[in-house]
Amino acid sequence: MTDVGPGMKLLGGTPGGNITLLNGPDGLFVVDAQFEVNAIANLAKIEEIAKAKPKYLVNTHAHFDHAGGNEQFAKAGATIFASENSRKHLTEQVASVDRAGLARPAPRKGAWPVVSFKDGIDFHLNGQTIRVFQSPQPAHTDGDTVIYFVEADVLDMGDVYTKGRYPGVDVGSNGTQAGFIAAFKRVLEVTGPNTKIIPGHGDLANRKDLEVTLAMHQGARAAVEKLVKSGATLQQTIAAKPLAQWTPQWAPSGSFTSDDAFVRVIYNELKR
Ligand SMILES: [Zn+2]
Ligand SMILES: [Zn+2]
Repeated sequence: MTDVGPGMKLLGGTPGGNITLLNGPDGLFVVDAQFEVNAIANLAKIEEIAKAKPKYLVNTHAHFDHAGGNEQFAKAGATIFASENSRKHLTEQVASVDRAGLARPAPRKGAWPVVSFKDGIDFHLNGQTIRVFQSPQPAHTDGDTVIYFVEADVLDMGDVYTKGRYPGVDVGSNGTQAGFIAAFKRVLEVTGPNTKIIPGHGDLANRKDLEVTLAMHQGARAAVEKLVKSGATLQQTIAAKPLAQWTPQWAPSGSFTSDDAFVRVIYNELKR
């Protein structure tokens, strides 16, 4: 658990997603609910820290390591907010497929967001302005939502940002690598030099980390694009190891996304 601002805490959730809390007299505001199996334990931890139950819960996206606890959090009294597209995945109006191409079943109705928004929604709570907005383009998924606590100068990016790792582009949920570039540009416009950045997984980061990540995304895309333009096939492109300069730093062993997988995503996107 880390203090990130006035009334704000970050509950680190390895291997689940991070949970961000803003507490105060107007009620406990929570970003993400992690895994279903940890929900009761997480709620107990949250109550111990905040001496309150969650009143508002915003999902950064629909994945089970972030929205899996929704039902238990709702039972504890939280009203759940999510982007329209995340809600569609959670209610299965739009099916999502996992990395193996298998359909991901929707959670029970108790886990469904009750408020959805298209571009964004602002909260005014506990002395904070909380700007909740969608990524300008689908990045990790097509429902990616970023939450900026303006006065505290804290930004929660969900899985649009995984510190020091190649991104997971959930193509089955319409994610795109181009969307990461658009999202990072947008976030860098909105935030300042001292903004604390909360990734979907892992430790707190800063603006410099985001600039470095944006440069990696742009460099990786340009490197793959060069091969696409030369007429290389997918196999040739992967074999050429276009991301060699980034891989030692961005895909250490045990990473969720390998450099080959990342090349495949960018290649297929550029070929569309
Ligand atoms: Zn995640
Ligand atoms: Zn995710």
